[in-house]
Amino acid sequence: MIALLANPDHSRHRAEGHPERPERVTAILDAIAADRGLTPEPAPSVPDALLHRVHDPQYVAMLDRAAASGGGYLDPDTYITPDSMVAARTAAGAVVEGVDRVLDGRAQHALAVVRPPGHHAEHARAMGFCLLNNVAIGVVAARARNVRRIAVLDIDVHHGNGTQHSFENDADIFYASTHRYPFYPGTGSAAERGRHDNVVNVPLAAGSGDRTVLSAWEKKIGPALAAFRPELILVSAGFDAHRDDPLGGMEVTTDGYRALAGLIKAWATEYSRGRSVWALEGGYDLRAIGDSMVACIDILADRGYNSGSPD
Ligand SMILES: [Zn+2]
Repeated sequence: MIALLANPDHSRHRAEGHPERPERVTAILDAIAADRGLTPEPAPSVPDALLHRVHDPQYVAMLDRAAASGGGYLDPDTYITPDSMVAARTAAGAVVEGVDRVLDGRAQHALAVVRPPGHHAEHARAMGFCLLNNVAIGVVAARARNVRRIAVLDIDVHHGNGTQHSFENDADIFYASTHRYPFYPGTGSAAERGRHDNVVNVPLAAGSGDRTVLSAWEKKIGPALAAFRPELILVSAGFDAHRDDPLGGMEVTTDGYRALAGLIKAWATEYSRGRSVWALEGGYDLRAIGDSMVACIDILADRGYNSGSPD
């Protein structure tokens, strides 16, 4: 059983000519509907109590004021509009709802197909198209429900600086990422390992493809994850490492993302009672992101190449 969650208010967060645009989510949801007949459920806003466990309340208030005063660019990449905070709160809320569904046993896997994305958002700083750190908020939501050991696996082409910084001193949270390096945002060297060796960064050269990326997850991240044994896995699902992505500069294929989903699902089965919660991060080619998300869902729903399922 897969819970598909979305935040319809995302469409009110848009800026002329910006690659982080509403059509991204539409393309993914259309692809999922066509492939599986699944329609998403709208998510509620994140409660302030959870939001403020990740972000400085004064920062959130600053974002609210920026939105209320008409919006604009918070940095050269990152815009805010009058309705952006409604979108950002429901994006984070979708991840929290996904965590709740999975922990309640109402779903095995949950997918939050939401925007704005989150993994670059810091404790008190918007950056890289991100306002609120959706996955980090999902982590604190799981922790609030007494899940102790939580892993975040970040497959976006960019390093999730905000997520790493939220948890790098926390022995109970594991963060792993493959990403193009050096590249935006500049963080994510292999030397960044967290205070308790709870961070694994695998920086990759531009142009890396399926074999390199999968090998990094299998050989470098897999053993560390096996030692950590997470009770719950969250995935920062960015599809901008796809070869068709206009920003990423990598060569991962849709089949590569499918294989990556297979690895993650196997880890969830082995360590986390088969549970995972996925949140959309980047990915800017509409066809590539739709195809890749569908490939991941097929794996999570046991409809992969090797499942033998006639479904
Ligand atoms: Zn990205």
